[in-house]
This record gives sequence, C-alpha cells and structure tokens, in this order.
Amino acid sequence: MELIRSRDWYSAPTGEPRGYIRPHALRELWFHTGTACNLSCPFCLEGSKPGDDRLQMLRLADVEPFIDEAQEMRVEQFSFTGGEPFVARDLIRILKRASEVAPCLVLTNGTDALQRRIHQLDELRNAPHPVSFRVSIDSIDRAEHDAGRGEGNFERAFEGLRLLHARGFHVSIARHMKADEDTPVVAAQYAALLKEQGLPEDLKQVAFPDFLPPGSHADVPAVTTQCMTRYQSEESRRNFMCAFSKMVLKQNNRMRVYACTLVDDDPEYDLGATLRQAMEQQVSMKHHRCFSCFRYGSSCSEI
Ligand code: SF4
Repeated sequence: MELIRSRDWYSAPTGEPRGYIRPHALRELWFHTGTACNLSCPFCLEGSKPGDDRLQMLRLADVEPFIDEAQEMRVEQFSFTGGEPFVARDLIRILKRASEVAPCLVLTNGTDALQRRIHQLDELRNAPHPVSFRVSIDSIDRAEHDAGRGEGNFERAFEGLRLLHARGFHVSIARHMKADEDTPVVAAQYAALLKEQGLPEDLKQVAFPDFLPPGSHADVPAVTTQCMTRYQSEESRRNFMCAFSKMVLKQNNRMRVYACTLVDDDPEYDLGATLRQAMEQQVSMKHHRCFSCFRYGSSCSEI
C-alpha cells in the first residue's frame, strides 16, 4: 500500500523528478531508543537533551514485535541510537532479547549514563550474537569536543571506550567530518589519539558531516532522478541506508517505521506500522540529509 505524499516528495523545486531509492532487503534494523539524553549538544541531529520526548523511550514490549518480524525477514543486524540509549531503562533487556536473533550495535556518548550501568553489560558478554558499541569522539581536540558535549566529556568518552574494550566488547568511534578535511590525515590523527588513550589504533572510524538540528532547511542541491542514474550505479544505490535498513521509533504513543536514521524529523518518511509495509515504499530523496548520502556516501551502518 503506497502512502499519500506531497508533490514535494516526488518533484524537486525545478519540477524535475526527485531521486529515489527502492529498498531491496532488510539487512539492518535500527531502533531509536528515544530523544532523551544525558547531554544536550547544540549540533545534535535529533535535538536530544535531558527529558526530551519528541521520540519516546522504548520499552521491551514495544520492540519485541519488530524483532520477531525482522527475524522472519532474515535481518542481519540490530542497531540502537538515541538520544542516549543507556538512558532507556529497558536497554539491557532489549539487548538480551535482540542478541538472541542477530548481532547488535549500540551508539553511545560513552559518558555517565553508560558508565553507571557498565556492570549490567556483563550478562551480554556471552550473548548468542555479539553486542558492540560505537562511542562519539567528535574531534581530536579535547576543547572542541567539550565545547559541544560539555566540560570533561572528552575524557569521560574515552573512559567509557576503555571500559567497554576491557570487557571484551568490540568498539568503534563516530567522529565529525569537516567539509574540507583531508580524510587520510584526520584518520591518522585519530589513530594516534586512540593509541595515546590506551586503545587499538585501528578501531573503525565512522565520520559524519554536520546534519543540522531537526527541522532545519539546508541550502543543498536537489537530488534528482537524473543525478541518481548519472552519478550512481545500481550497486551504489543498494548501499544507501534506506535501501537495506529501516528505523523503528515511538512517537505519539505509536510505534512507527521510518526510512532511515536521518529523516525522523519529517513525517513523510514515516513508512507505516510494520517492516513489511515499510519495505514496500519507494523512498524519495527530498530530505536535505539525503544529499549527504548522495555526495559523501554518509551512512550510520557498519555492515
Ligand atoms: S538520508 Fe536516509 S532516506 Fe535520504 S538517501 Fe540517505 S538513507 Fe535514504
């Protein structure tokens, strides 16, 4: 069943047809644990902060039907983002249930909310499928990281990383990507910093451009159907997150499935109440963050 969309969903302001992605398989399912966070970073693409409930906190009963449906659809990975997932009371119970079905990845800021519950993770060490963690280290510069995340949080994030790594969990880092950066140089600087912090220098680094706060209107070129055929191939289109993943969230006391992790501020990307229904929807590239996927290959996924 195709949902009713605005003209903007289908056409760029020039009238040209919008680029779109046709999902092919549910390889990864993301859960948004809610926009509540222990930090309140001004750049947060989710607008998360303490007590925020734009997206509501998930309970185990909310996610169980989606874990079951995803299992039927042969999902390969569950991933969790927020807000700060460790603020969600049911997180450990949810991870226990999800890791019975597939490997799990949890995105965290690595600070107090994680560290207070670090011992609770011990029961996940021998889960049927591994649970891994990605910690945000925005910049190699302590002052720059702390300017966004609050004083002392650079050190706290590394402490969280070390605690996870020492417990035997696979860890990776998320970092900010500047438009004019020399990526190999920045990656080498991060590797040196990781080593200095007592961690393996070859940890996976996932870099993100500035996605702007929710509801922003960025001045980026429209991605048209012609862009998607001229500059992308069938194979590269299959690598867009909305082609192989979806995100489940709770809003207005209803569980909904969105096209990907980057578009939950636009209700047109609400693709329905079930994963099967969502996977049938063609996804328009009208959101300004779609340009980052087109231009930089931005992706939250590690598969
Ligand atoms: S932002 Fe989401 S919907 Fe847009 S192209 Fe990227 S993965 Fe697809």
